[in-house]
Amino acid sequence: MNLWFTENHSPNVLFSIKVLEHLYTGKSEFQKIDVLQTAEFGRVLTLDGLVMVTEKDEFIYHDMITHVAMATNPGIKKVLVIGAGDGGTVRELTKYETIEHIDMVEIDEMVVDVCKEFIPQTASKLDDPRVHLHFEDGLKFVRSHENEYDLIIVDSTDPFGPGEGLFTREFYGNCYKALNEDGILVNQHESPFYEEDALGMQRAHKRITGFFPVCKVYQVHIPTYPSGHWLFGFASKKYDPINDLNADAWNQLGLKTKYYNTDIHVGSFALPNYVKEQLKDV
Ligand code: SAM
Repeated sequence: MNLWFTENHSPNVLFSIKVLEHLYTGKSEFQKIDVLQTAEFGRVLTLDGLVMVTEKDEFIYHDMITHVAMATNPGIKKVLVIGAGDGGTVRELTKYETIEHIDMVEIDEMVVDVCKEFIPQTASKLDDPRVHLHFEDGLKFVRSHENEYDLIIVDSTDPFGPGEGLFTREFYGNCYKALNEDGILVNQHESPFYEEDALGMQRAHKRITGFFPVCKVYQVHIPTYPSGHWLFGFASKKYDPINDLNADAWNQLGLKTKYYNTDIHVGSFALPNYVKEQLKDV
């Protein structure tokens, strides 16, 4: 039997992956959760029918959502991760011996349980003693924290459903307050390619720019995300991701990464003209 998983990447574009086995299906209070064994991408986690993580390309996303900030400020000790239930972001952060404390705030405990069982490739470090899991809404969590974190990473679903609040002005303002005076905010910033995603991306960028003096965007290619062209936001109270990058210091750490290196760190901030245009007037 030929089984295919299909996701709408835009109203006019479908993306399909051949499925070998449907390993898990369940419904939490927040979303439908599925794990598929696929022919090309290994195990794939989908939430409400949208690809979140695949074993084959997750390294691109997780390397770039963590190491850019870590290489910019090697002094980061306390980190807040919002969303990220698959564990991939935390796995990358735990490579740094210098990090002392990671709070991970995931709204849906079931995502974590399912990933621990079916996708240990990403979930393997969620039991690190420095990691403190909180199962609640990230929007509410940040309201009650001030001058506490060196880095906040928002590894969320898209700006609808449970993730909607994580793209609001209120949320970005509270992230600003929760960061200490040289804090950095990195967030998954959607895709610039298809119109609807691009509008969401521009809106998020405009809102963050309202709070942070340094506000940049960098790009990656992720084969299973809509269009493959994906952006991250880098906002900071002090650090510039290019001028303050200490490439030698990061390289001396000797960390093993499959995508990130300090050349791609710099190169990822060089944006195509159509993205510069989108960001110009926000
Ligand atoms: N890499 C992914 C992507 O860009 O598609 C994100 C993966 S991670 C699984 C996203 C997580 O964010 C989900 O597990 C979801 O439950 C969580 N999430 C969504 N809204 C949230 C909120 N308001 N507070 C905390 N976690 C949230």
